[in-house]
Order: sequence, then C-alpha cells, then structure tokens
Amino acid sequence: MRRTLLESLTHGPLTEPALAPDRAALAELAKSVERAARAKLGRTLSIRQVDAGSCNGCELEIHALSNAFYDLERFGLRFAASPRHADVLLVTGPVTKNMREALLRTYNATPDPKWVVAVGACAADGGIFAGSYAVTGGVKDVIPVDLHIRGCPPSPTELLKGLLALLETTSGRAAKAK
Ligand code: SF4
Repeated sequence: MRRTLLESLTHGPLTEPALAPDRAALAELAKSVERAARAKLGRTLSIRQVDAGSCNGCELEIHALSNAFYDLERFGLRFAASPRHADVLLVTGPVTKNMREALLRTYNATPDPKWVVAVGACAADGGIFAGSYAVTGGVKDVIPVDLHIRGCPPSPTELLKGLLALLETTSGRAAKAK
C-alpha cells in the first residue's frame, strides 16, 4: 500500500495526452450551423434531446456541446426543455418498449417543420441492444428520421457536422407519426 501511494505521488497519471484542440475549426463549424439555421428558420436552432434507452455514452458527448470548451450557446444554438420549443429532436439509444410511447408523444408535440436526428449506433438499428426483449428497434422503427449520426458514441464535432449537413440538405417534416 505504501509503495502504491509513493508510486502515485512520483508518477504521472497513466492516461494518454489529450489531442490538441482545433478551436478555430470548431468555431467555424458552429458558426456554419448558426448561419444555416438562420437561413432556413430565420433564427437560431433549438434542440430537444430524447434518451430513448441509451447507455448514456451518447448523452455525455451531447452534454459536452454545452461545456466550457465547445460552448454551443455562444453561437445561439440551444437545448430546449420542452419539445414544443424545439426544431430538432436529437434521439439517442435503441428505443426501449418503455420509451416508445414517450418518443411518439415527444415527436407529435414538436411543432412543424421539424427534424429528427438519430444519434449513435444504437439509435440507427438497436446497436448492441438489438434483439433484446426490452427493445423495439432503432429510432426509424418508431418515428421518421432525417439523419443518422453514426458512432459509439459520436464526438461533439461529429454531432456539429451532422447538424450542419441536416440544415443544408433537408427542409423539415410536417407529418405526424402514429
Ligand atoms: S451508441 Fe454506444 S454510446 Fe451510444 S447509447 Fe449505444 S452503446 Fe451507448
């Protein structure tokens, strides 16, 4: 025990050094998302995140968009507390049977036009949880999906790239899911 304590005091942490951040590229990407949102909506983008049954790994990356490093709100993009104030639903995880109805109601409560982005491998097709007795399937099995952002989990930069691609290529949905 004494030896372990001594070693921990004399050696650095056994982790890999973090990659050097490319703040300029990140800021440019976030500004592009803001510009695309203003061109399409006449204002900035409002996002509602829905956890349909994930392991929370994807949530950690989504939460990172609001931390001091990424600080998405400085570009006007914000997370809404209610789907009634949202333009985009960011849905994570496989859709569990318990969350199916909640996801449907959230989709129907979101005003038109709206977009649905399925985040992570599980949201695409159930991922490692596919086939579980508790899982309905991917997000597209419950509500229409405009974009999949793959990864397990996708990084904040990949999330921003996905939002930009969404705004530049689609026009939003008006149909209700049953
Ligand atoms: S894609 Fe990976 S991180 Fe995201 S919910 Fe599935 S297992 Fe977790």
